[in-house]
Parts: sequence; structure tokens; C-alpha cells
Amino acid sequence: SKEKKQKEKQGKMTKQALGKEECQGAQRVSPPRSDMEKGLLCGEMPSEDPPPALPPQQLRVVCDNMLQGLGRYLRCLGVDVVMLENTDDHRVAAKLAQVEGRVILTCGQPYQTLRSQVGEGRCLSLDCSEKAKDQAVRVLRHFNIQPTPGDIFSRCQACNSDQYVEIPRADMIGLLKEKGYLQDSTDPTLEKFCQQEEQEPDDTLTPALTPEPPRYAAQCRWASLSGLDRNTLTFPGGSPMQLHTVPPTLLQRVPLFYVCTRCGKVFWEGSHFSRVLSLFQEVLHLTHEDKVP
Ligand SMILES: [Zn+2]
Repeated sequence: SKEKKQKEKQGKMTKQALGKEECQGAQRVSPPRSDMEKGLLCGEMPSEDPPPALPPQQLRVVCDNMLQGLGRYLRCLGVDVVMLENTDDHRVAAKLAQVEGRVILTCGQPYQTLRSQVGEGRCLSLDCSEKAKDQAVRVLRHFNIQPTPGDIFSRCQACNSDQYVEIPRADMIGLLKEKGYLQDSTDPTLEKFCQQEEQEPDDTLTPALTPEPPRYAAQCRWASLSGLDRNTLTFPGGSPMQLHTVPPTLLQRVPLFYVCTRCGKVFWEGSHFSRVLSLFQEVLHLTHEDKVP
């Protein structure tokens, strides 16, 4: 059979040579070929463009409980990730895949079973021994997903919701005082700082006090504060704003807070953002300004 292969190879080469000749304009009478075949024979690429990359919001996955690190990274890049609880059976993953149209990310033995339940394209097997970051890069490449810096933390890391309300520093200070998390005399420098800020009609336009606009979560959905119960500081879904997690010392340097309207968790831009940016440089779509120094 080795000989047969060799013959086949030679045959192909002759065919290629003929094709080339034909393309160079020789008046040869030959059986008609399809345009595609002609192009290939002449060493041209097929005219079809590679499929355009998709934004991370378009990828919906359910992550096996052995792959929680992977799930966290994908979620922080904006992918819609549901994670199996440690007590969840694999049938939960199959159900989520079918009901919510999610792709299952799994590893090891469960893959065969799950694949037979949900179908080949709806289940991806990963190498459990690989680092979570490398698994994440693999998944993004497999599904042709191209996150941008604006996708980083566009989902709540705790509950996967992509809806936040923005709370500027002055309002956050007001809420903290109102609920007794901040004493009026806690910090004299902060007090002075707040007074200065109040004198400005629009604190977003005071570069001296507002260092840089936050760069993350640009791709999330913004909710209005109108749904918040002003007395209990509870969102329509029933979760209270987690004010107790905001360290008062932070108020001096964070101009804007984000609160998840589903679970009430409070976020702000910190060193995590740069860390994720540099960790995923190779897959992020970076413009010149985004480049990590
Ligand atoms: Zn949340």
C-alpha cells in the first residue's frame, strides 16, 4: 500500500503541474474544472474569508465542577458561564445545555456520556492537568471568541449577571453614612476631600480629583437606581446592596462603584483589571491605548 500511496502522490503532482500550466494561459484543451479546484491547483487560497470573530457574550457555557478555575476566567472575560456546584450531577449540565442552549465544558470520563446526551458540537473536552488560563485560551480559540478590554468584568464574578448600577463616590459616601458604615468623623482627610468635591458642579469633569475613568465593564448593561428600594437598599430581585464590603479607605481613590443588581455585590476598578489584561494579552483584541506597559 506504500507503493500505491507513492503512485497517488505522483499522480497528484502531475495534476498540479498541469493545473499551473493551464493557469499560465496555455491553450490546452482540458476537461472543465470547477473554479475552486483551479484556484487550489494554482496555489491560490479559496476565496472564502475566515469566519468573523464573535464577542464573548455570544458564548454560553456550563462548566463542569472540575473546571471552576476555567469558568472564573471565562466569566471575567465576559463569557456567559454557569458553573456546576460540587454536589451537582452531570445530568444537570446536560439539562442546562439543552434548556438554555449552553455548551458543556468538561474533562475526563464524563465527556463520553455527556457527548452522547447533547451531541458532538455541544460538548468540549479539556485537559484537566492544563492551567486554567491555558484552558481558557483554548476555549476562546476553539469557538473563535475575541474579547476586548471592555469585556473584562462585564459580568458579576459572583452570579454571572451582566447588569450593574453605577454609584459615583459622593453617592456611595452618602449611602455608607446613612447606613452607619461611615462615621462623620472617621477620617479628616476624607471629609476635606468630600467637601472639595461638593464644591464642583460636576465631579466627573475635575481631572485633579477624578484620576481616570474606569476602563472595565464597558460591555455590561446599566440599570437605573430607580428600582432600588431606598429604605432597605434592596434591588427588585430581593438582594440588598452589600455596603459592608466597601472599605472606607478606598473612597479616596475610587471615583466610581458598580453594584450588581442581581446579587448586590459591589465592585470597583482595581489591580485585578490590569492583571487580567496582561494575563490574556494574547487573545484580547487590544487597541494601541490598551497595550500593557
Ligand atoms: Zn452578582
